[in-house]
Amino acid sequence: MSTTTSTSLVAQEQISEIISAIPTDLFIDGEWASAASGARFDVVNPATEKVIASVADGSAEDARRAIETCARVQPEWARTPPRERSEILRRAYDLIMSRQDLLATIMTTEMGKPFAEAKGEVAYAAEFFRWFSEEAVRISGDLTTTGDGKNRILVSREPVGPCVLITPWNFPLAMGTRKIGPAVAAGCTMVFKPAALTPLTSLALVEILIEAGLPRGVLNVVTTTSAGDVVSEWMSSGIARKVSFTGSTAVGSRLLKQAAQHVMRSSMELGGNAPFIVFDDADLDRAVEGAMAAKMRNMGEACTAANRLFVQRTVAPEFTRRLSERLSALTVGDGIDSGTDVGPLVEAKALHKVEELVADAVSKGAMVESGGVRLDHPGYFYPPTVLSNVSNDAALMSEEIFGPVAPVIPFDTEAEVVTRANNTPWGLVGYVFTQDLDRAFRVSEELEVGMVGVNSGIVSNPAAPFGGVKASGLGREGGRIGIEEFLEYKYLAIPKV
Ligand code: NAP
Repeated sequence: MSTTTSTSLVAQEQISEIISAIPTDLFIDGEWASAASGARFDVVNPATEKVIASVADGSAEDARRAIETCARVQPEWARTPPRERSEILRRAYDLIMSRQDLLATIMTTEMGKPFAEAKGEVAYAAEFFRWFSEEAVRISGDLTTTGDGKNRILVSREPVGPCVLITPWNFPLAMGTRKIGPAVAAGCTMVFKPAALTPLTSLALVEILIEAGLPRGVLNVVTTTSAGDVVSEWMSSGIARKVSFTGSTAVGSRLLKQAAQHVMRSSMELGGNAPFIVFDDADLDRAVEGAMAAKMRNMGEACTAANRLFVQRTVAPEFTRRLSERLSALTVGDGIDSGTDVGPLVEAKALHKVEELVADAVSKGAMVESGGVRLDHPGYFYPPTVLSNVSNDAALMSEEIFGPVAPVIPFDTEAEVVTRANNTPWGLVGYVFTQDLDRAFRVSEELEVGMVGVNSGIVSNPAAPFGGVKASGLGREGGRIGIEEFLEYKYLAIPKV
Protein backbone atom coordinates (compact mmCIF):
# COMPACT_ATOMS: atom_id res chain seq x y z
CA MET A 1 0.00 0.00 0.00
CA SER A 2 1.35 3.40 -0.86
CA THR A 3 -1.51 5.54 0.32
CA THR A 4 -0.30 6.72 3.71
CA THR A 5 -0.68 10.40 2.80
CA SER A 6 -3.94 10.00 0.89
CA THR A 7 -7.25 11.42 2.05
CA SER A 8 -10.75 10.14 1.47
CA LEU A 9 -12.49 11.82 -1.47
CA VAL A 10 -15.81 11.43 0.35
CA ALA A 11 -16.05 11.94 4.11
CA GLN A 12 -16.73 8.77 6.10
CA GLU A 13 -19.97 10.18 7.62
CA GLN A 14 -21.17 11.08 4.13
CA ILE A 15 -20.46 7.56 2.85
CA SER A 16 -22.43 6.07 5.76
CA GLU A 17 -25.28 8.47 5.05
CA ILE A 18 -25.33 7.58 1.34
CA ILE A 19 -25.25 3.84 2.00
CA SER A 20 -27.89 3.93 4.72
CA ALA A 21 -30.27 5.86 2.44
CA ILE A 22 -30.36 3.05 -0.15
CA PRO A 23 -33.45 0.83 0.08
CA THR A 24 -32.29 -2.69 0.88
CA ASP A 25 -35.46 -4.72 0.34
CA LEU A 26 -36.80 -6.57 -2.68
CA PHE A 27 -38.68 -4.44 -5.22
CA ILE A 28 -41.73 -6.32 -6.49
CA ASP A 29 -44.90 -4.94 -8.07
CA GLY A 30 -43.87 -1.37 -7.35
CA GLU A 31 -43.23 -1.91 -3.64
CA TRP A 32 -40.23 -2.43 -1.43
CA ALA A 33 -40.72 -5.49 0.77
CA SER A 34 -38.71 -7.90 2.91
CA ALA A 35 -38.01 -11.39 1.62
CA ALA A 36 -40.86 -13.80 2.42
CA SER A 37 -38.47 -15.71 4.70
CA GLY A 38 -37.27 -12.49 6.37
CA ALA A 39 -33.67 -13.51 5.53
CA ARG A 40 -30.97 -10.93 4.81
CA PHE A 41 -27.33 -11.02 3.71
CA ASP A 42 -24.34 -8.76 4.23
CA VAL A 43 -22.57 -6.56 1.73
CA VAL A 44 -18.84 -6.07 2.41
CA ASN A 45 -16.42 -3.31 1.42
CA PRO A 46 -13.48 -5.19 -0.19
CA ALA A 47 -11.04 -2.43 0.78
CA THR A 48 -11.76 -2.74 4.50
CA GLU A 49 -13.41 -6.20 4.77
CA LYS A 50 -16.14 -4.47 6.83
CA VAL A 51 -19.88 -5.04 6.44
CA ILE A 52 -21.53 -1.92 5.00
CA ALA A 53 -25.15 -3.03 4.59
CA SER A 54 -27.55 -5.90 4.88
CA VAL A 55 -29.90 -6.69 2.01
CA ALA A 56 -33.06 -8.82 1.66
CA ASP A 57 -32.23 -12.39 0.68
CA GLY A 58 -34.96 -13.43 -1.76
CA SER A 59 -36.07 -17.01 -2.38
CA ALA A 60 -37.98 -18.92 -5.06
CA GLU A 61 -41.23 -17.77 -3.41
CA ASP A 62 -40.30 -14.10 -3.90
CA ALA A 63 -39.11 -14.90 -7.41
CA ARG A 64 -42.51 -16.37 -8.28
CA ARG A 65 -44.29 -13.19 -7.15
CA ALA A 66 -41.91 -11.09 -9.24
CA ILE A 67 -42.41 -13.05 -12.47
CA GLU A 68 -46.19 -13.19 -11.99
CA THR A 69 -46.14 -9.39 -11.74
CA CYS A 70 -44.39 -9.28 -15.12
CA ALA A 71 -47.08 -11.47 -16.67
CA ARG A 72 -49.83 -9.19 -15.37
CA VAL A 73 -48.21 -5.91 -16.38
CA GLN A 74 -46.75 -6.93 -19.77
CA PRO A 75 -49.80 -6.32 -22.04
CA GLU A 76 -50.42 -2.78 -20.81
CA TRP A 77 -46.70 -1.88 -20.77
CA ALA A 78 -46.35 -3.13 -24.36
CA ARG A 79 -49.07 -0.65 -25.40
CA THR A 80 -47.30 2.36 -23.84
CA PRO A 81 -46.46 4.95 -26.49
CA PRO A 82 -42.78 4.68 -27.49
CA ARG A 83 -42.27 8.37 -26.74
CA GLU A 84 -43.37 7.76 -23.15
CA ARG A 85 -40.88 4.91 -22.73
CA SER A 86 -38.22 7.05 -24.37
CA GLU A 87 -38.80 9.92 -21.97
CA ILE A 88 -38.59 7.68 -18.90
CA LEU A 89 -35.14 6.57 -20.05
CA ARG A 90 -34.10 10.11 -20.88
CA ARG A 91 -35.15 11.33 -17.40
CA ALA A 92 -33.30 8.40 -15.81
CA TYR A 93 -30.20 9.37 -17.81
CA ASP A 94 -30.40 12.93 -16.46
CA LEU A 95 -30.94 11.69 -12.91
CA ILE A 96 -27.99 9.30 -13.06
CA MET A 97 -25.71 12.05 -14.34
CA SER A 98 -26.91 14.45 -11.65
CA ARG A 99 -25.98 11.79 -9.05
CA GLN A 100 -22.68 10.74 -10.56
CA ASP A 101 -20.67 11.24 -7.36
CA LEU A 102 -23.27 9.53 -5.21
CA LEU A 103 -23.50 6.44 -7.44
CA ALA A 104 -19.70 6.31 -7.76
CA THR A 105 -19.39 6.39 -3.97
CA ILE A 106 -21.76 3.43 -3.66
CA MET A 107 -19.95 1.49 -6.36
CA THR A 108 -16.47 2.10 -4.98
CA THR A 109 -17.61 1.16 -1.50
CA GLU A 110 -19.25 -2.12 -2.48
CA MET A 111 -16.86 -3.36 -5.17
CA GLY A 112 -13.58 -1.50 -4.81
CA LYS A 113 -12.91 0.27 -8.10
CA PRO A 114 -11.19 3.67 -7.76
CA PHE A 115 -13.60 6.60 -7.44
CA ALA A 116 -12.55 8.19 -10.76
CA GLU A 117 -13.14 4.89 -12.55
CA ALA A 118 -16.48 4.49 -10.79
CA LYS A 119 -17.50 7.95 -12.03
CA GLY A 120 -16.45 6.85 -15.52
CA GLU A 121 -18.68 3.80 -15.22
CA VAL A 122 -21.61 5.94 -14.07
CA ALA A 123 -21.31 8.08 -17.21
CA TYR A 124 -20.90 4.98 -19.42
CA ALA A 125 -23.91 3.33 -17.76
CA ALA A 126 -26.08 6.43 -18.15
CA GLU A 127 -25.25 6.56 -21.86
CA PHE A 128 -27.11 3.27 -22.39
CA PHE A 129 -30.29 4.96 -21.16
CA ARG A 130 -29.71 7.95 -23.41
CA TRP A 131 -28.92 5.70 -26.38
CA PHE A 132 -31.98 3.51 -25.90
CA SER A 133 -34.23 6.51 -25.21
CA GLU A 134 -33.33 7.47 -28.79
CA GLU A 135 -33.91 3.92 -30.09
CA ALA A 136 -37.34 3.56 -28.43
CA VAL A 137 -38.96 5.86 -31.00
CA ARG A 138 -37.23 4.26 -34.00
CA ILE A 139 -38.70 0.76 -33.87
CA SER A 140 -39.75 0.30 -37.46
CA GLY A 141 -41.31 -2.43 -39.60
CA ASP A 142 -41.50 -3.26 -43.26
CA LEU A 143 -44.08 -3.44 -46.06
CA THR A 144 -43.30 -5.43 -49.21
CA THR A 145 -45.12 -7.48 -51.83
CA THR A 146 -44.82 -11.17 -52.63
CA GLY A 147 -43.00 -12.08 -55.86
CA ASP A 148 -46.25 -12.82 -57.70
CA GLY A 149 -47.66 -9.42 -56.68
CA LYS A 150 -50.73 -10.97 -55.09
CA ASN A 151 -49.97 -10.47 -51.38
CA ARG A 152 -48.78 -7.75 -49.08
CA ILE A 153 -46.11 -8.68 -46.50
CA LEU A 154 -46.50 -6.42 -43.49
CA VAL A 155 -43.79 -6.89 -40.87
CA SER A 156 -44.11 -5.28 -37.45
CA ARG A 157 -42.01 -5.45 -34.28
CA GLU A 158 -43.31 -6.34 -30.85
CA PRO A 159 -41.69 -6.59 -27.42
CA VAL A 160 -40.46 -10.11 -26.82
CA GLY A 161 -42.27 -10.19 -23.45
CA PRO A 162 -41.18 -10.64 -19.82
CA CYS A 163 -37.38 -10.79 -19.51
CA VAL A 164 -35.01 -12.33 -16.97
CA LEU A 165 -32.00 -10.05 -16.47
CA ILE A 166 -28.94 -11.26 -14.53
CA THR A 167 -25.80 -9.20 -14.01
CA PRO A 168 -22.30 -9.70 -12.54
CA TRP A 169 -20.50 -7.65 -9.88
CA ASN A 170 -17.68 -6.15 -11.92
CA PHE A 171 -19.63 -3.31 -13.59
CA PRO A 172 -22.58 -3.05 -11.20
CA LEU A 173 -24.28 -0.11 -12.91
CA ALA A 174 -23.39 -0.47 -16.59
CA MET A 175 -24.27 -4.16 -16.85
CA GLY A 176 -27.73 -3.28 -15.49
CA THR A 177 -28.44 -0.26 -17.72
CA ARG A 178 -27.17 -2.18 -20.78
CA LYS A 179 -30.07 -4.61 -20.27
CA ILE A 180 -32.76 -2.46 -18.63
CA GLY A 181 -32.32 0.32 -21.25
CA PRO A 182 -33.26 -1.77 -24.32
CA ALA A 183 -35.90 -3.74 -22.39
CA VAL A 184 -37.70 -0.50 -21.40
CA ALA A 185 -37.28 0.91 -24.92
CA ALA A 186 -38.78 -2.23 -26.46
CA GLY A 187 -41.68 -2.44 -23.99
CA CYS A 188 -40.66 -5.53 -22.03
CA THR A 189 -41.32 -6.15 -18.34
CA MET A 190 -38.40 -7.47 -16.30
CA VAL A 191 -37.26 -9.53 -13.36
CA PHE A 192 -33.75 -8.48 -12.43
CA LYS A 193 -31.20 -10.24 -10.22
CA PRO A 194 -28.03 -8.25 -9.55
CA ALA A 195 -24.89 -9.95 -8.22
CA ALA A 196 -24.94 -10.75 -4.49
CA LEU A 197 -21.58 -9.02 -4.01
CA THR A 198 -22.83 -5.67 -5.36
CA PRO A 199 -26.59 -5.22 -4.93
CA LEU A 200 -26.51 -1.64 -3.61
CA THR A 201 -25.71 0.11 -6.90
CA SER A 202 -28.62 -1.72 -8.57
CA LEU A 203 -31.01 -0.83 -5.76
CA ALA A 204 -30.00 2.84 -6.07
CA LEU A 205 -30.70 2.55 -9.80
CA VAL A 206 -34.20 1.24 -9.10
CA GLU A 207 -34.96 4.36 -7.08
CA ILE A 208 -33.85 6.48 -10.02
CA LEU A 209 -36.09 4.58 -12.42
CA ILE A 210 -39.06 5.03 -10.09
CA GLU A 211 -38.34 8.75 -9.92
CA ALA A 212 -38.07 8.83 -13.72
CA GLY A 213 -41.63 7.49 -13.92
CA LEU A 214 -41.21 3.79 -14.70
CA PRO A 215 -44.69 2.34 -14.11
CA ARG A 216 -45.38 -0.04 -11.28
CA GLY A 217 -44.49 -3.69 -11.92
CA VAL A 218 -42.41 -3.12 -15.07
CA LEU A 219 -39.12 -3.76 -13.22
CA ASN A 220 -38.98 -6.25 -10.36
CA VAL A 221 -35.76 -6.82 -8.45
CA VAL A 222 -34.83 -9.81 -6.32
CA THR A 223 -31.52 -9.71 -4.47
CA THR A 224 -30.46 -13.12 -3.22
CA THR A 225 -27.69 -15.47 -2.17
CA SER A 226 -29.62 -18.35 -3.78
CA ALA A 227 -29.11 -17.38 -7.41
CA GLY A 228 -29.78 -20.90 -8.68
CA ASP A 229 -33.17 -21.20 -6.91
CA VAL A 230 -34.41 -17.71 -7.80
CA VAL A 231 -33.37 -17.83 -11.44
CA SER A 232 -34.60 -21.44 -11.94
CA GLU A 233 -38.03 -20.32 -10.74
CA TRP A 234 -38.06 -17.68 -13.49
CA MET A 235 -36.64 -19.92 -16.19
CA SER A 236 -39.10 -22.73 -15.51
CA SER A 237 -42.11 -20.41 -15.06
CA GLY A 238 -43.23 -20.48 -18.68
CA ILE A 239 -43.90 -16.72 -18.25
CA ALA A 240 -40.44 -15.37 -19.08
CA ARG A 241 -39.84 -15.17 -22.84
CA LYS A 242 -36.23 -14.04 -22.77
CA VAL A 243 -33.09 -14.32 -20.66
CA SER A 244 -30.30 -11.78 -20.86
CA PHE A 245 -27.28 -12.83 -18.82
CA THR A 246 -23.83 -11.37 -18.21
CA GLY A 247 -21.41 -13.50 -16.26
CA SER A 248 -19.31 -16.63 -16.46
CA THR A 249 -19.50 -19.14 -19.29
CA ALA A 250 -20.24 -21.92 -16.77
CA VAL A 251 -23.43 -20.23 -15.49
CA GLY A 252 -24.38 -19.00 -18.99
CA SER A 253 -24.25 -22.49 -20.37
CA ARG A 254 -26.41 -23.78 -17.48
CA LEU A 255 -28.97 -21.05 -18.24
CA LEU A 256 -29.04 -21.99 -21.93
CA LYS A 257 -30.01 -25.52 -20.93
CA GLN A 258 -32.80 -24.11 -18.74
CA ALA A 259 -33.90 -21.77 -21.54
CA ALA A 260 -34.37 -24.77 -23.82
CA GLN A 261 -37.33 -26.00 -21.75
CA HIS A 262 -39.58 -23.13 -22.85
CA VAL A 263 -37.55 -22.18 -25.96
CA MET A 264 -36.67 -18.75 -24.55
CA ARG A 265 -34.78 -16.11 -26.52
CA SER A 266 -31.29 -15.89 -25.01
CA SER A 267 -28.56 -13.24 -24.91
CA MET A 268 -25.32 -14.30 -23.27
CA GLU A 269 -22.41 -11.97 -22.49
CA LEU A 270 -19.89 -14.42 -21.08
CA GLY A 271 -16.22 -14.72 -20.21
CA GLY A 272 -13.18 -13.84 -22.30
CA ASN A 273 -9.49 -14.62 -22.69
CA ALA A 274 -8.45 -11.61 -24.74
CA PRO A 275 -5.26 -11.71 -26.81
CA PHE A 276 -3.41 -8.37 -26.90
CA ILE A 277 -1.04 -8.45 -29.89
CA VAL A 278 1.85 -6.02 -30.40
CA PHE A 279 3.77 -6.24 -33.70
CA ASP A 280 7.32 -4.92 -34.04
CA ASP A 281 6.14 -2.00 -36.22
CA ALA A 282 3.69 -0.75 -33.55
CA ASP A 283 4.01 2.63 -31.87
CA LEU A 284 5.27 1.22 -28.54
CA ASP A 285 4.04 4.21 -26.53
CA ARG A 286 0.53 3.65 -27.84
CA ALA A 287 0.83 -0.08 -27.27
CA VAL A 288 1.86 0.42 -23.63
CA GLU A 289 -0.93 2.96 -23.16
CA GLY A 290 -3.37 0.49 -24.72
CA ALA A 291 -2.11 -2.30 -22.45
CA MET A 292 -2.61 -0.10 -19.39
CA ALA A 293 -6.24 0.48 -20.40
CA ALA A 294 -6.97 -3.07 -21.52
CA LYS A 295 -5.29 -4.67 -18.52
CA MET A 296 -5.84 -2.29 -15.62
CA ARG A 297 -9.45 -1.18 -16.15
CA ASN A 298 -11.35 -2.36 -13.08
CA MET A 299 -8.15 -3.89 -11.58
CA GLY A 300 -8.16 -6.41 -14.43
CA GLU A 301 -11.61 -7.66 -13.36
CA ALA A 302 -13.19 -7.21 -16.78
CA CYS A 303 -14.33 -9.65 -19.45
CA THR A 304 -12.49 -7.42 -21.93
CA ALA A 305 -9.22 -7.51 -19.93
CA ALA A 306 -6.08 -8.30 -21.91
CA ASN A 307 -5.37 -11.81 -20.64
CA ARG A 308 -2.47 -12.82 -22.89
CA LEU A 309 -0.08 -10.12 -24.11
CA PHE A 310 1.63 -11.47 -27.25
CA VAL A 311 4.56 -9.19 -28.21
CA GLN A 312 6.80 -9.71 -31.24
CA ARG A 313 10.16 -11.03 -30.00
CA THR A 314 12.34 -8.08 -31.11
CA VAL A 315 10.30 -5.54 -29.13
CA ALA A 316 9.19 -7.78 -26.24
CA PRO A 317 12.01 -6.78 -23.79
CA GLU A 318 11.43 -3.05 -24.35
CA PHE A 319 7.63 -3.39 -24.14
CA THR A 320 7.98 -5.44 -20.92
CA ARG A 321 10.34 -2.87 -19.41
CA ARG A 322 8.06 0.07 -20.20
CA LEU A 323 4.92 -1.73 -19.02
CA SER A 324 6.60 -2.79 -15.74
CA GLU A 325 7.75 0.77 -15.16
CA ARG A 326 4.23 2.15 -15.70
CA LEU A 327 2.54 -0.49 -13.57
CA SER A 328 5.04 -0.18 -10.71
CA ALA A 329 4.29 3.55 -10.52
CA LEU A 330 0.58 2.95 -9.82
CA THR A 331 -0.74 3.52 -6.32
CA VAL A 332 -2.68 0.65 -4.77
CA GLY A 333 -5.24 1.52 -2.12
CA ASP A 334 -8.82 2.06 -1.06
CA GLY A 335 -10.64 3.31 -4.15
CA ILE A 336 -12.28 6.10 -2.18
CA ASP A 337 -8.89 7.67 -1.35
CA SER A 338 -7.33 10.40 -3.44
CA GLY A 339 -4.42 9.22 -5.52
CA THR A 340 -5.53 5.57 -5.69
CA ASP A 341 -5.02 4.05 -9.13
CA VAL A 342 -5.70 0.41 -8.26
CA GLY A 343 -8.36 -0.72 -5.80
CA PRO A 344 -8.82 -4.10 -4.10
CA LEU A 345 -10.10 -7.22 -5.80
CA VAL A 346 -13.74 -7.90 -5.09
CA GLU A 347 -13.42 -10.69 -2.50
CA ALA A 348 -10.93 -13.02 -0.80
CA LYS A 349 -11.69 -15.85 -3.28
CA ALA A 350 -10.72 -13.59 -6.20
CA LEU A 351 -7.47 -12.62 -4.48
CA HIS A 352 -6.54 -16.25 -3.79
CA LYS A 353 -7.28 -17.20 -7.38
CA VAL A 354 -4.90 -14.51 -8.70
CA GLU A 355 -2.20 -15.60 -6.22
CA GLU A 356 -2.58 -19.21 -7.34
CA LEU A 357 -2.41 -18.32 -11.05
CA VAL A 358 0.82 -16.34 -10.54
CA ALA A 359 2.37 -19.12 -8.39
CA ASP A 360 1.44 -21.68 -11.06
CA ALA A 361 2.99 -19.57 -13.87
CA VAL A 362 6.18 -19.05 -11.83
CA SER A 363 6.43 -22.78 -11.07
CA LYS A 364 6.35 -23.33 -14.85
CA GLY A 365 9.21 -20.90 -15.55
CA ALA A 366 7.65 -17.39 -15.61
CA MET A 367 9.76 -14.48 -14.32
CA VAL A 368 8.17 -11.80 -12.13
CA GLU A 369 9.20 -8.45 -13.66
CA SER A 370 7.20 -6.37 -11.15
CA GLY A 371 4.64 -6.96 -8.38
CA GLY A 372 3.86 -10.62 -7.77
CA VAL A 373 3.35 -10.60 -3.99
CA ARG A 374 0.05 -9.77 -2.32
CA LEU A 375 0.02 -6.77 -0.03
CA ASP A 376 0.19 -7.32 3.70
CA HIS A 377 -2.79 -5.17 4.55
CA PRO A 378 -6.49 -5.67 5.36
CA GLY A 379 -8.54 -5.66 2.16
CA TYR A 380 -8.17 -7.83 -0.92
CA PHE A 381 -5.24 -5.98 -2.53
CA TYR A 382 -2.98 -7.44 -5.20
CA PRO A 383 -0.30 -5.29 -6.86
CA PRO A 384 -0.08 -4.73 -10.62
CA THR A 385 2.19 -7.51 -11.86
CA VAL A 386 4.12 -8.19 -15.05
CA LEU A 387 5.28 -11.73 -15.88
CA SER A 388 7.68 -12.62 -18.69
CA ASN A 389 8.77 -15.99 -20.12
CA VAL A 390 5.28 -17.40 -19.49
CA SER A 391 4.96 -20.95 -20.77
CA ASN A 392 2.02 -22.13 -22.81
CA ASP A 393 0.92 -24.62 -20.17
CA ALA A 394 0.60 -21.98 -17.41
CA ALA A 395 -3.03 -21.99 -16.21
CA LEU A 396 -3.41 -18.23 -16.81
CA MET A 397 -2.96 -18.80 -20.55
CA SER A 398 -6.25 -20.68 -20.67
CA GLU A 399 -8.19 -19.12 -17.76
CA GLU A 400 -9.48 -15.61 -17.14
CA ILE A 401 -7.03 -13.99 -14.70
CA PHE A 402 -9.51 -11.38 -13.45
CA GLY A 403 -6.75 -9.46 -11.69
CA PRO A 404 -3.98 -6.93 -12.41
CA VAL A 405 -1.52 -9.47 -13.86
CA ALA A 406 -0.02 -9.01 -17.33
CA PRO A 407 1.70 -12.09 -18.79
CA VAL A 408 3.96 -11.09 -21.71
CA ILE A 409 4.53 -13.85 -24.28
CA PRO A 410 6.97 -13.36 -27.19
CA PHE A 411 6.06 -14.50 -30.72
CA ASP A 412 7.84 -14.57 -34.08
CA THR A 413 5.40 -14.50 -37.00
CA GLU A 414 1.94 -13.18 -37.80
CA ALA A 415 0.62 -16.64 -38.66
CA GLU A 416 1.94 -18.03 -35.38
CA VAL A 417 0.36 -15.31 -33.22
CA VAL A 418 -3.03 -15.59 -34.92
CA THR A 419 -3.06 -19.36 -34.31
CA ARG A 420 -2.05 -18.91 -30.68
CA ALA A 421 -4.53 -16.08 -30.12
CA ASN A 422 -7.38 -18.21 -31.47
CA ASN A 423 -6.33 -21.25 -29.46
CA THR A 424 -8.98 -20.76 -26.78
CA PRO A 425 -12.66 -21.62 -26.42
CA TRP A 426 -13.42 -17.91 -25.86
CA GLY A 427 -13.84 -15.17 -28.43
CA LEU A 428 -14.96 -11.91 -26.87
CA VAL A 429 -12.35 -9.32 -27.84
CA GLY A 430 -8.82 -9.02 -29.24
CA TYR A 431 -6.41 -6.09 -29.49
CA VAL A 432 -3.99 -5.49 -32.36
CA PHE A 433 -1.19 -2.93 -32.36
CA THR A 434 0.56 -2.29 -35.67
CA GLN A 435 1.13 0.65 -38.02
CA ASP A 436 0.65 -1.52 -41.09
CA LEU A 437 -2.93 -0.91 -42.24
CA ASP A 438 -3.17 -4.10 -44.30
CA ARG A 439 -1.95 -6.17 -41.39
CA ALA A 440 -4.35 -4.43 -38.98
CA PHE A 441 -7.32 -5.43 -41.18
CA ARG A 442 -5.95 -8.91 -41.96
CA VAL A 443 -5.30 -9.87 -38.34
CA SER A 444 -8.59 -8.32 -37.15
CA GLU A 445 -10.44 -10.42 -39.69
CA GLU A 446 -8.59 -13.59 -38.72
CA LEU A 447 -9.16 -13.26 -34.98
CA GLU A 448 -12.10 -15.37 -33.79
CA VAL A 449 -13.68 -12.65 -31.64
CA GLY A 450 -16.72 -10.38 -31.61
CA MET A 451 -14.74 -7.15 -31.16
CA VAL A 452 -11.24 -5.89 -32.02
CA GLY A 453 -9.42 -2.86 -30.64
CA VAL A 454 -7.09 -1.63 -33.40
CA ASN A 455 -4.33 0.42 -31.77
CA SER A 456 -6.80 0.90 -28.93
CA GLY A 457 -7.14 -0.72 -25.52
CA ILE A 458 -10.81 0.21 -25.16
CA VAL A 459 -13.73 -1.10 -27.23
CA SER A 460 -16.79 -0.60 -25.01
CA ASN A 461 -19.24 2.07 -26.15
CA PRO A 462 -23.05 2.25 -25.94
CA ALA A 463 -23.20 3.03 -29.67
CA ALA A 464 -21.33 -0.16 -30.57
CA PRO A 465 -22.55 -3.79 -30.62
CA PHE A 466 -20.82 -5.41 -27.65
CA GLY A 467 -20.51 -9.19 -27.56
CA GLY A 468 -18.54 -12.27 -28.39
CA VAL A 469 -18.39 -15.47 -30.39
CA LYS A 470 -17.56 -19.07 -29.38
CA ALA A 471 -17.86 -19.60 -25.59
CA SER A 472 -18.02 -15.81 -25.03
CA GLY A 473 -21.69 -15.65 -25.84
CA LEU A 474 -24.68 -15.07 -28.04
CA GLY A 475 -26.20 -11.79 -29.19
CA ARG A 476 -25.04 -8.19 -28.81
CA GLU A 477 -25.69 -5.38 -26.36
CA GLY A 478 -25.69 -1.71 -27.37
CA GLY A 479 -25.48 -0.19 -30.81
CA ARG A 480 -28.25 -0.17 -33.37
CA ILE A 481 -28.89 -3.89 -32.89
CA GLY A 482 -29.02 -3.82 -29.07
CA ILE A 483 -32.79 -3.28 -29.04
CA GLU A 484 -33.38 -6.14 -31.52
CA GLU A 485 -32.53 -8.60 -28.75
CA PHE A 486 -35.74 -7.47 -27.01
CA LEU A 487 -38.03 -7.42 -30.05
CA GLU A 488 -39.89 -10.08 -32.04
CA TYR A 489 -40.98 -9.86 -35.66
CA LYS A 490 -44.61 -10.38 -36.62
CA TYR A 491 -45.54 -10.85 -40.27
CA LEU A 492 -49.05 -10.29 -41.59
CA ALA A 493 -49.98 -11.83 -44.94
CA ILE A 494 -52.61 -9.58 -46.58
CA PRO A 495 -53.93 -10.57 -50.02
CA LYS A 496 -54.42 -7.75 -52.54
CA VAL A 497 -58.08 -8.14 -53.38
P1 NAP B 1 -21.03 -15.52 -12.38
O1 NAP B 1 -20.56 -16.27 -11.21
O2 NAP B 1 -21.44 -16.27 -13.58
O3 NAP B 1 -22.23 -14.61 -11.85
C1 NAP B 1 -22.94 -13.74 -12.70
C2 NAP B 1 -24.37 -13.65 -12.20
O4 NAP B 1 -24.97 -14.92 -12.29
C3 NAP B 1 -24.47 -13.21 -10.75
O5 NAP B 1 -25.60 -12.40 -10.59
C4 NAP B 1 -24.64 -14.55 -10.04
O6 NAP B 1 -25.29 -14.47 -8.80
C5 NAP B 1 -25.52 -15.28 -11.04
N1 NAP B 1 -25.51 -16.72 -10.86
C6 NAP B 1 -24.60 -17.50 -10.23
N2 NAP B 1 -24.99 -18.79 -10.26
C7 NAP B 1 -26.17 -18.83 -10.93
C8 NAP B 1 -27.07 -19.87 -11.28
N3 NAP B 1 -26.84 -21.14 -10.97
N4 NAP B 1 -28.17 -19.56 -11.97
C9 NAP B 1 -28.43 -18.27 -12.30
N5 NAP B 1 -27.62 -17.23 -11.98
C10 NAP B 1 -26.50 -17.51 -11.31
O7 NAP B 1 -19.96 -14.47 -12.87
P2 NAP B 1 -19.22 -13.37 -11.99
O8 NAP B 1 -18.13 -14.03 -11.26
O9 NAP B 1 -20.19 -12.57 -11.22
O10 NAP B 1 -18.68 -12.39 -13.12
C11 NAP B 1 -17.51 -12.61 -13.77
C12 NAP B 1 -17.73 -13.23 -15.13
O11 NAP B 1 -18.58 -12.40 -15.92
C13 NAP B 1 -16.45 -13.34 -15.91
O12 NAP B 1 -16.38 -14.57 -16.57
C14 NAP B 1 -16.56 -12.20 -16.90
O13 NAP B 1 -15.77 -12.36 -18.05
C15 NAP B 1 -18.00 -12.19 -17.19
N6 NAP B 1 -18.43 -10.88 -17.72
C16 NAP B 1 -18.77 -10.82 -19.03
C17 NAP B 1 -19.14 -9.61 -19.59
C18 NAP B 1 -19.53 -9.52 -21.04
O14 NAP B 1 -20.16 -8.54 -21.39
N7 NAP B 1 -19.19 -10.50 -21.87
C19 NAP B 1 -19.17 -8.46 -18.80
C20 NAP B 1 -18.80 -8.55 -17.46
C21 NAP B 1 -18.44 -9.79 -16.94
P3 NAP B 1 -24.42 -14.36 -7.45
O15 NAP B 1 -23.85 -13.04 -7.46
O16 NAP B 1 -25.40 -14.55 -6.38
O17 NAP B 1 -23.40 -15.45 -7.51
